[in-house]
Amino acid sequence: MEIIHVSAECYPVAKAGGLGDVVGALPKYQNELGHIAKVVMPMYRTKFLLNNEWDVVHKGRSNMGDYWFDYTIIKERSNKLGFDLYLVDINGLLDREKIYGYDDDAERFTGFQIAVVDWISQWVHKPDVVHVHDYHAGLIPFMMKHCYKYQHLHSIPSVLTIHNAQYQGVMGWDKSYLLPPWDSWKWGMLDWRGNINPLASGIKCAWKVNTVSPSYMGELRQSSNGLEDLFEYEKGKCTGILNGIDAAVWDPATDTYLEEHFTAETAKEGKAKNKKKLCDTFNLDPEKPLIVFIGRLVGEKGADILPASISDSFYYIGRKMNFLILGSGFPEVESQLSSLQRIAQNDYNVYIGYNEALSHLMYAGADYLLMPSRVEPCGLNQMYAMRYGTIPMVRRTGGLKDTVKDFGEPGGYGIVYNWAAIGDITQGIWRAVDLYDDKEKVDEIRTKMMLLDFSWQKSVSEYTLLYESLKN
Ligand code: ADP
Repeated sequence: MEIIHVSAECYPVAKAGGLGDVVGALPKYQNELGHIAKVVMPMYRTKFLLNNEWDVVHKGRSNMGDYWFDYTIIKERSNKLGFDLYLVDINGLLDREKIYGYDDDAERFTGFQIAVVDWISQWVHKPDVVHVHDYHAGLIPFMMKHCYKYQHLHSIPSVLTIHNAQYQGVMGWDKSYLLPPWDSWKWGMLDWRGNINPLASGIKCAWKVNTVSPSYMGELRQSSNGLEDLFEYEKGKCTGILNGIDAAVWDPATDTYLEEHFTAETAKEGKAKNKKKLCDTFNLDPEKPLIVFIGRLVGEKGADILPASISDSFYYIGRKMNFLILGSGFPEVESQLSSLQRIAQNDYNVYIGYNEALSHLMYAGADYLLMPSRVEPCGLNQMYAMRYGTIPMVRRTGGLKDTVKDFGEPGGYGIVYNWAAIGDITQGIWRAVDLYDDKEKVDEIRTKMMLLDFSWQKSVSEYTLLYESLKN
């Protein structure tokens, strides 16, 4: 089958979170299974763009209302990622350093989607599936069905994968002029509660919708930033498919970011060397259990309650553990986490920013990974941690619930608590500190986790079944 993935992120080209990891891996594994999977994304001004060679495959012209723009589709020449990668260049709109966060993001991503549909509309053959990811590509199913210019694409099946339903790309109806002329009887397919809502439109118009874990799909019917009724109404075409992890990139036996490589058999010594490197760099004590957090410092991840949970843990449990935090996000959380350093110098450190290399070293060198998420569509960090022999300490929600079993349960291997609350987190930390002293148990849990299978193969088969179900 020929599958076209449309996404705002794709690792290693441009990544802000899990969306990038998934779009950088899923097509590769689909190709290994014999499909022809391709990725189309915006051309940001990234290192990957500058360091690789490109061929121009198409030039076109389109418009958003009165604003006419030229677009160019370029293709990476060597196919080094394991799939054909196409970038959409719209001069002045997409070729910027950051992926998100500009005032004109509505225009940027609408222009991107128009260029993608416009390009596909000129192909002599039709792809088997157009697979769109998150709201940045959420208007494409609508365009293929209801924009006059693209009517000949209406029979191509579309799939929407929701990696995060918090972000919906809502824009006022005053922006409706951005879209190519469309059948105005279908305005309801764009609208949600008085605005154009690209994610809601994708849910309404895509042939199938999935989230990145089964539990998250169920949770969205209870809480999804205003889309609860829509998820309930459309539940017939919605499903949950758990993400895999890219075992080629995330392998402690070959990961080039590590101080020392290791496998399940050599994990004890290998992890100790990586821990030492981390502790030397961040002035921490390698004898104490090292608890880390890696991620966006936002409410969804429970980052706002991290500072209080850490200081409460020091107060109630004592200086028996070390913490290392890596992330960026809300300035207030960043500054609270930075100021904690003043009161807990030798037991705590923080790196504010994005650092791929450090994240790998932390998965490898830590004893525990803390994830007190309020919402977690799938969560990749806990799977990376387990592959690197680091015990996840997670809140029972979304994909965390689907992938981590408390070590107190038969066959369990993680630390699981019910609420994203300071008391629950502190109690989890207490359990982690206690467990650390039981070296035999830790060894047993580590081996069990490292041998768990979170590979993409299973998820790829589920996506294939989903596509098959769309065949006319
Ligand atoms: P989300 O997509 O919601 O942010 P996921 O768990 O799905 O969360 O994916 C997070 C990915 O982003 C992981 O690969 C994680 O290692 C990475 N990541 C998050 N923040 C940082 C950071 N500050 N530095 C390096 N990697 C990060």
